[in-house]
Amino acid sequence: MSSKPSNPNTDPKPKPPSSPKSPRAKKASSKNPKVKQDTPTTAKPKAKKSPDKQLAKQGTKKLSKVAPRPPAKKPAKLGTKPSARPNAKSHAKPSSRPQKRGAQKKGSQKDRLRVIPLGGLDAIGKNMTVFEYGDDMIVVDAGLMFPDEHQLGIDLILPDYSYIIENEHKLRGIVITHGHEDHTGALPWLLKDLSRRSVPIITTKLTCGLIKGKFEEHGIKNVKFTEVSSESHLSCGVFGLNFIDVNHSIPDAVAVLINTPVGNVLHTGDFKFDQTPIIGKVVDYSALAKAGDAGIMLLLSDSTCAEKPGVTPSEAEVGRALRSIMAQAQQRIIIASFSSHIHRLQQICDAAIASGRKVAVTGRSMLRNTEIARKLGYLSIPDDMIIDAYHMRDYAPEDIVVLCTGSQGEPLSALSRMAIGEHRSIRVTSGDTVIFSATPVPGNEQAVNTVVNQLVKCGAEVHEKQTATVHVSGHAASEELKMLLNIIKPEYFMPVHGETRHLHAHKDLALQVGIPDEYIFVLENGDVLEFDEDGAYQKEPVQNGVIYVDGLNVGDFDSVILRDRQHLSQDGIVTIVANVNRSRKQTMGSVEVIFRGVSVSDPDFFQAEIAERATKTLERNLREKATLNNARRSVKDAVSQLVWERTKTRPMVIPVIMEI
Ligand SMILES: [Zn+2]
Ligand SMILES: [Zn+2]
Repeated sequence: MSSKPSNPNTDPKPKPPSSPKSPRAKKASSKNPKVKQDTPTTAKPKAKKSPDKQLAKQGTKKLSKVAPRPPAKKPAKLGTKPSARPNAKSHAKPSSRPQKRGAQKKGSQKDRLRVIPLGGLDAIGKNMTVFEYGDDMIVVDAGLMFPDEHQLGIDLILPDYSYIIENEHKLRGIVITHGHEDHTGALPWLLKDLSRRSVPIITTKLTCGLIKGKFEEHGIKNVKFTEVSSESHLSCGVFGLNFIDVNHSIPDAVAVLINTPVGNVLHTGDFKFDQTPIIGKVVDYSALAKAGDAGIMLLLSDSTCAEKPGVTPSEAEVGRALRSIMAQAQQRIIIASFSSHIHRLQQICDAAIASGRKVAVTGRSMLRNTEIARKLGYLSIPDDMIIDAYHMRDYAPEDIVVLCTGSQGEPLSALSRMAIGEHRSIRVTSGDTVIFSATPVPGNEQAVNTVVNQLVKCGAEVHEKQTATVHVSGHAASEELKMLLNIIKPEYFMPVHGETRHLHAHKDLALQVGIPDEYIFVLENGDVLEFDEDGAYQKEPVQNGVIYVDGLNVGDFDSVILRDRQHLSQDGIVTIVANVNRSRKQTMGSVEVIFRGVSVSDPDFFQAEIAERATKTLERNLREKATLNNARRSVKDAVSQLVWERTKTRPMVIPVIMEI
């Protein structure tokens, strides 16, 4: 885990959260006339860091929103909406509640389903949702996110999963919807933090393969996997699990249908409706329709492309664009893509073969994923068409397609190294064609632009999404999302997988198809939504936030450290090293001044000036019998002041003063 990942095999557009470990205070939604108050005694004890703890202690009623379920056949109860929803007919599920409630105490914690998103609602990344009922709990997805340029030195960001660790005894299974990093990437850390390895990871064949590859790298052994398909039905404590095939930018993606004692829940995972998918089946529309007919109490659906009008083009569109570029290219072709985008890799291989070229694979994650996908039968390319990057020199440039990592401009990736001539076996030369078959994740545009400039300087012809259909999204756009809402007809709807703007755009779509506002929950990470026979209740959040992974360190990564790193990167550092003899009240030897990243016109003069100011300040402090700590502080202040006067910058000043 000491190495940085070479390629973020994640979905497009992850964006970091605003602040780490910042549990939010929930505000009571006084604007909502449907608000019903819940007694705080039914509220679960909150996590340590919740700012609401104080309020709860004082007995403050904190319920922000209650949306009673629509009137079905049963008579309206207290708190039920007085009139039917505008399209209550199409959304009501009168007879399909399959579960018995038994003799549970009304209003007790036990007869409520708790839905807790721990990640994925502030950004496209680190997806993780907890479903809990009584003594049983399952988790859907355990993803990570990659840092932005402000999170210096941070390798990875994980959702704060303390809630899962605290409730580990209830954990019956971890369901993974598909093999992207924003759904699987936190698994190694979560598994290491759990005290037992017997919790099954429940997922499809390819996703299992990719996770096993990841665990191997982390040295994690003896993990229990339950491989499932759309045929599988299994029980996980009180939960029943079924899986529905969906299309996405990786094969074997599924939606999860969760039967709970209070109603059925459908979590779509990431999906789009692709009528001509490259690998695997078309979305199982009939299974979705059946689920809708049986009654879905709560739908959680992918919001990534909720702002995009229309429908997302089919992956097959990309094949046409790739074939036409390859047919025209005179020399070598280099294509950068996400290594987990197996459909895309297949299309690249197909187009290469059609144009009579062999495929050379380079980049650590690209090599690993193509190997796993070929072994499991998800990537089909004849052995004699794939060659080792080291053997490329045996072939003419016009006979080669290079498949590599680096579509996000990552400085250590294969493509970046090729562009600056540091790749072991490939150097981009005049006449080469380079295709970016991925969209830059927000925040990575500048890095991608830098690589494009370097490639153009080398004489390459560069194709990006702007110039050809060399990439399409793996996520449903607004018309597809509305179609799903209409097929499923959920009672309650919770947009997931998106930044706040995407979640709200998705909410607007739900309003358009007739789901009333009170039945739609746009939550934040850590929020708790409870369901029982009478309605839905939003409760105080559990501990939430992010965990930074920085090289070998994981966990409580202080924002002070990040601030220091930003400070260092912007203004540099000045270090003053001095030895003092307190009894003689003077400095011994010369005071050494080292500065890095500080812009000055005459460094030698600047250095001497700082040394003189530091010496004078120190000796004055010694004469005044100041403590060493106070002396340090005085030196720091005096030097900071001098540097500000000379440079109008505030570098970090570190006095190192030793007594001899
Ligand atoms: Zn995905
Ligand atoms: Zn995703």
